[in-house]
Formats: sequence, structure tokens, C-alpha cells
Amino acid sequence: MKPKILLIYTGGTIGMIKDPETGVLRAFDFDNLLIKIPELKLLACDIETVSFKEPIDSSNMNPSYWVQIAEIIEKHYQSFDGFVILHGSDTMSYTASALSFMLENLTKPVVFTGSQLPIGDLRTDAKENLITSIQVASLQKRDKPVIKEVGLYFEYKLYRANRTTKINAEHFEAFSSPNYQDLVESGVHLRVNEEFLWKPNSRRKLKVHKHMDDNIVLIKLFPGINISTIECMLNRPNLKGAILETYGAGNCTTERWFIDALKKAISKGVHIINVTQCSGGSVLMGQYETSTQLKKIGVISGEDMTTEAAICKLMYMLGSKISDTDFKSVYETPLRGEMS
Ligand code: ASP
Repeated sequence: MKPKILLIYTGGTIGMIKDPETGVLRAFDFDNLLIKIPELKLLACDIETVSFKEPIDSSNMNPSYWVQIAEIIEKHYQSFDGFVILHGSDTMSYTASALSFMLENLTKPVVFTGSQLPIGDLRTDAKENLITSIQVASLQKRDKPVIKEVGLYFEYKLYRANRTTKINAEHFEAFSSPNYQDLVESGVHLRVNEEFLWKPNSRRKLKVHKHMDDNIVLIKLFPGINISTIECMLNRPNLKGAILETYGAGNCTTERWFIDALKKAISKGVHIINVTQCSGGSVLMGQYETSTQLKKIGVISGEDMTTEAAICKLMYMLGSKISDTDFKSVYETPLRGEMS
């Protein structure tokens, strides 16, 4: 039996084709995918496609589209062996991170991919990304999928999705996973780094979480950020959580007004998470005097999570109504391999 792969097209550059006469980019007709990309027929799997009614540029992505993707996977979960999601690269790390939290007990591959150049372009990176993503999603060992998590495939590498970040707007190598090893490398052969794959408990049933609470803010520190900016963000009505992007290993100013503003928000029940602005490495509160106060007032450590994963984990946990008493310890626990 050949593996069955569902290809879900949400939008983005990958699905565009340039009119050879006018040079204008227009949406590619995914219903005729196998005719347009005959190479796909050579793959050892059966492919079916489903598309968003109105494909979007991923800069327009939001949690209601995340729910749409989760529902497509939920609906087809039993009848397909793997899922490949075509998505614009701009916010792909956010959507892929969100899906990793929304799909609890996932035991099948969900591979996000996209491209820097449209699929109809002569020098496109779309074909390689698409074909290898399908191959990766089709990998099986003793009739079971090899990949059992949400991944992101781009330019010869499969990464754990919730460890990725978009690092380049121009290079074909547009993503990186600074704090976690690559899951699969594509050369002459596909090299699977088995020891780094997520190994879920396969007896548990897939549970799809559809409530992502967006009552959060992202505060990126910079020298010169002042009390009115911080208070304006922390006094936003109905605020439930804040991601604080700090310096280095989780450091911030020791000025009293800053710590007092955070303390006041925490006392009102706002969960504050500390992640670093650095692209690699981890928050380690208490290492310097400039982070000791944060630890004391109950700021949660985001450790080595990307900002993308930290935001999605916060929305997911707020949406799942985790109690205030458990919130800090659950947030500081890896749920889907998003932190070390
Ligand atoms: N703006 C596009 C998007 O994210 C870029 C891309 O597809 O890579 O939808």
C-alpha cells in the first residue's frame, strides 16, 4: 500500500505562477497539480489536494486560519498517512509552531513548506521543497510514519517546526533552527537524524485544540524604552499574557519603574514570559543581577524557545484554561519539544 498524502494549499509564493507573456504572478491551479508537475507522479505515494477557498499571503495569517488548517487535518486524519501544508514563508514559523501545540498526540507527519520563488519561475526553489516535503511525509518504517510531529522543510532540511525562525527574505535558505538539530537532511539520500525525532505515545488519540487566546502582547526591550510605553502595553484591557523579549541570557534594566510595572501586572494575573532577543541560546534568570529581579517577582522562563513558539504556546495555554497555580510550571515544561 502506497502512503496517502494530503497536500493543503493555504497561499504564499509557492502557489504562484508567472504569466509568461505579461510577467504577472497569479494563483496556481492546484487541482491540476499532477498535470502541471509530472514529477509528482514518480513519487511512491498517492497525493490528494485541498486548498483554502481564498489563498492568502501569509502576512494575513491569524489564529482563525490556524483553526481552519487544524480542522482540515482533523477531518482527514484517519484517511491519510501524512500532511504537507503549503504556506507563505513570512509567517510559516508561527503557523507551524501554533499547529504543533494545537495537534496534541499527533502521530503522523505534518510538514510545512513554501518557497522564495513561485512554482512557475524558471529558477524556482518550490519544486524541490514540494517534492522532498512529500517524500519526507511519506517516509515509513514497518508501515508506520517515521516523522510523528510538525516539521518545516526548506532548502534541503527538515526542522522541528516550533524551533524555527525565518532569517532571510532573499536567500533560498530562509529558515534556521538555532537551538535544535535538523531532523532530516536532503542530499543524494534523505538522512534522517532518528535520535532527534519526537517520539509520541502512539496509544493516545489525536486531540485538536481550537481555542487560541490572543489577549497577549509582545514587548521587545530596547535601550530607551520608557515607562509610558511599558504601561501602555501592560494596561491593555483584558491582557492575560506578555512575552518579554529581553537581552542576552534574559536580562533587562534594573530600574525600579520597570520591575514595579511588571510586578503590578503579575499581581493582576498577567503571565509574563522571558525569552531572549538573541537568535540562539537560552534565558537563564539569576545569572546576572539584571535578571535576578525578574525571577523573584515570578516571571516565567521561556528558556531557549523562539519568540514564535513562545507566542503560540502562550495563546494555546491561555486558550486551554490552564489554572493560574499550574501555569508557570506547565509553561516551563517542554510540551512538543519546543524547548530543551
Ligand atoms: N509574502 C509571501 C507570504 O508569506 C512570501 C512567501 O510566500 O514566501 O505569503
